Amino acid sequence: VADQYTRAAALLSEAVGTQADAWDVAGRISDDVVRHLAAHGILCPDVAEEFGGLGMTSRESGELAAITGSLCSSLRSLMTSQGMAAWALRRLGDDRQRAAFLPQMTSGTLAAVAFSESAAGSDLSAMSTQICPAGDRVKVTGEKVWVTGACYADVIVVFGRSGDGGTAVVVPADAPGVTVTRISDPLGCRAAGHAVVDLDEVDLCAADHLLGGVGMPLEWLVTSVLTHGRLSVGWGCVGILRACLAAAVRHANIREQFGRPIADHQLIARHLAELFVAEQAATRMCEHASRCWDDASPDQVSSAVAAKHFAATQAAKGAAAAVQVLASAGARDGHVVARAYRDAKLMEIIEGSSEISQLVLARHARQVLA
Ligand SMILES: Cc1cc2nc3c(=O)[nH]c(=O)nc-3n(C[C@H](O)[C@H](O)[C@H](O)COP(=O)(O)OP(=O)(O)OC[C@H]3O[C@@H](n4cnc5c(N)ncnc54)[C@H](O)[C@@H]3O)c2cc1C
Repeated sequence: VADQYTRAAALLSEAVGTQADAWDVAGRISDDVVRHLAAHGILCPDVAEEFGGLGMTSRESGELAAITGSLCSSLRSLMTSQGMAAWALRRLGDDRQRAAFLPQMTSGTLAAVAFSESAAGSDLSAMSTQICPAGDRVKVTGEKVWVTGACYADVIVVFGRSGDGGTAVVVPADAPGVTVTRISDPLGCRAAGHAVVDLDEVDLCAADHLLGGVGMPLEWLVTSVLTHGRLSVGWGCVGILRACLAAAVRHANIREQFGRPIADHQLIARHLAELFVAEQAATRMCEHASRCWDDASPDQVSSAVAAKHFAATQAAKGAAAAVQVLASAGARDGHVVARAYRDAKLMEIIEGSSEISQLVLARHARQVLA
């Protein structure tokens, strides 16, 4: 696996190269690059080798997400969605469904994950999409919003209501009744292919597409899949911090004002010190959360929420500091810190906003320390 990791990291860096800013401006990552990385299993690297995956630990997948996040947060967003979709299949699918879908996802098939609706953002219990089994068929009706990667996806894992509980279903993006409408001009992660997905009585074979039966507790269902996504986003934010730290140090060393490099001015040095500490601390939080995931620790959920919350908050703060250090040199599209500034802000909203994370963590602290 160590070799797999080195190879995957090299392939990623080579495939992205210096194209991230052009993709950001165009609002689309090169399809060839996305398919190439997906075909090598790099977008869901923790899928087991028996399904054609790279069999990486959470820590190794996390480091790959950090590399991706340092290069291109739009691509890291696709990686997060692919990873969550594959995890949903591993966690909720039966043996036949795993054997059918996972080898596709490690060899080029692209997936997105749809929870949110216009009236169900932070409060996913308000979801109204209906997933109704009838005999050997299942019908899906509803509208999902802000589905990352939907503009690239071949399949979408859709969560919804079924009777009193919840369930999930794998919906082919080209099935009759599915309409994917791109969300134009998002603040950040502009090439991540966010879309509204309309599902109008989409009719599927239940045995092939319905994951894990019906009537599961919706909160359990959503949390088990979001935890995977939170780890990925946390690591992606570590990558944003690394990119911002590198750009800020590079610039502060060469830009001279008042007769010396700006890094020698103490107020700029403080920005560099704070970025350095943020990167180190976020890395340690993500490492801990990944260890909890790999050990199936009881702290798996809380450590992932804490790591994502801390890393996202620090990435947003750190990217703003990096723009401050570069000033006019980093104040336009096409510069890594300008892109990071827009992308990082979104990290405080997705996979559980900062406020929702804080509520979850406060509840956890009260339970543990009562
Ligand atoms: C770039 C991007 C990518 C996304 N990708 C996906 C995806 O792939 N799949 C998917 O299903 N969804 C996705 N989403 C949707 C995302 O999960 C939601 O935007 C998020 O859950 C917040 O919901 P909302 O935007 O409706 O905000 P709201 O829920 O309306 O919240 C608005 C504000 O109120 C705060 N708030 C809400 N409730 C409380 C409370 N109880 N206490 C304190 N504060 C509260 C929130 O923290 C926020 O600050 C994405 C969104 C974005 C912006």
